[in-house]
Amino acid sequence: MSKLEFPNALFIDGKWVPSARRESFESVNPATEEVLASVPRADAHDVDLAVRAAKKAFYGEWSEVTPSERGRLLYQLAQAIQSRREELAELETLDNGKPLREALGDVDGVVQTIQYNAGAADKLQGDTIPLGKEVVDFTWLEPLGVTAHIVPWNFPLGIAVRSVAPALAAGCTVVLKPAEESPLSALRLASIAKEVGFPDGVLNVVTGFGEEAGAALVRHPQVRGVTFTGSAETGRKIVAQTAEALKPLVLELGGKNALIVFADADLERAVSDAIEAVFGNCGQVCSAASRLLLHRSIQGEFVERFCERASSLKVAPGLENGDLGPLISKEQLQRAQDYIRSGLQEGAELRLGGKRPAHLPRGYFLEPTVFEAVNPQMRIAQEEIFAPVVVAMPFDTDEEAIRIANEVDYGLVAGVYTQDIRRAMTFAQKLECGSVWINGWYLGGVQAPTGGVKASGFGRERGLAGIHNYLQIKNVAIKL
Ligand code: ADP
Repeated sequence: MSKLEFPNALFIDGKWVPSARRESFESVNPATEEVLASVPRADAHDVDLAVRAAKKAFYGEWSEVTPSERGRLLYQLAQAIQSRREELAELETLDNGKPLREALGDVDGVVQTIQYNAGAADKLQGDTIPLGKEVVDFTWLEPLGVTAHIVPWNFPLGIAVRSVAPALAAGCTVVLKPAEESPLSALRLASIAKEVGFPDGVLNVVTGFGEEAGAALVRHPQVRGVTFTGSAETGRKIVAQTAEALKPLVLELGGKNALIVFADADLERAVSDAIEAVFGNCGQVCSAASRLLLHRSIQGEFVERFCERASSLKVAPGLENGDLGPLISKEQLQRAQDYIRSGLQEGAELRLGGKRPAHLPRGYFLEPTVFEAVNPQMRIAQEEIFAPVVVAMPFDTDEEAIRIANEVDYGLVAGVYTQDIRRAMTFAQKLECGSVWINGWYLGGVQAPTGGVKASGFGRERGLAGIHNYLQIKNVAIKL
């Protein structure tokens, strides 16, 4: 596949502009290791232009657009994306590596997310507060202003839209910085937003490196709110970079999520959900089930069935639509291989995979990998690997399962498989995480809030909570 036709330009104030220094970097197809496109390497100067454009639009044209008109524009954006579903999915597959089927699902999710926020745009109401006859007290929900959106590479368009759509619905203007590994769909989003009539400056996209463009963006004094999804390490840097200016933050920082299976569970359902939860998006999902906690009585059977299914998964370039594409980059592949080595050194038993597939000499592919006899304190059981690598651990009692599930730094999601409603609800209460799923995985949709506790971050995205990230309450009191 040769290079794609892409403007080597940033999208600022409704126009395509080169970076001030005219420097670029290359986006690589992880299935072939070939260059897909060159995109600008923005620096602080470019970021400043984008933020100024967003600020001008916020106080200017965008402030004249009524909430219902904002909703209509978002609906039009959703429709335009829907009508270009295949094209966008293919772009995402080329840039990120995921199977086309998954990329199509992502685009469908993007459409739903934008539609949800479109519908909410004119329903963001304040309260009236009863203070007696002498005072009238009410609240307005005001947009924050210019918001920065720093997104990762695992769902380039999905995670961008997850925060950009509610910010726009709330009346903010936006500067979006996609990840350096997968910048292309964000640029395409900008051009579609322009086509459907978003005013200039409302949605700006700057491509560039995290430490350079990303840091400049979150630090910019005119940026009034920051939403970040990525690693905990970078999340901590973002907190530090925004501490001086005390900016509101939404941080979603990964997980080490436990899928817990009891003896009374529907094993067939648990195994097939686990396959999707572990290997979907090649394991590069914050809410992947990266730990399987299995009741000792069914551990053997579960692992047997799981490995049988996993070994039949097809690893292939995303355009061939197998089950697992490549990892996003050479660095991520090496990182996963380091973890596999560490697991073996610490004495875990490798049940499946662990290698690059022999039939794919190019591209950042890795076999579905399953470790058994894992001790909860091993690195592979504690740290986020972000690859198709899962660890299986036995437990004997409910208390032990809860303890193992909670004894990690992260707290994003957890799942429990059991027919016992009392046990399920006890786990829902005791698991330290933002979402608990019972007898299913990846439950909830664009309407349900999602986010983490502990090192998984804070703030909630999706649902109405996701829109309130971009609104601040102003209380107005009138003495009669
Ligand atoms: P990973 O380590 O998995 O590549 P990161 O969390 O570093 O993921 O990256 C997620 C996003 O954060 C990317 O868009 C990246 O460019 C950006 N980023 C990285 N470092 C910083 C930083 N210091 N300030 C702002 N954004 C950053």
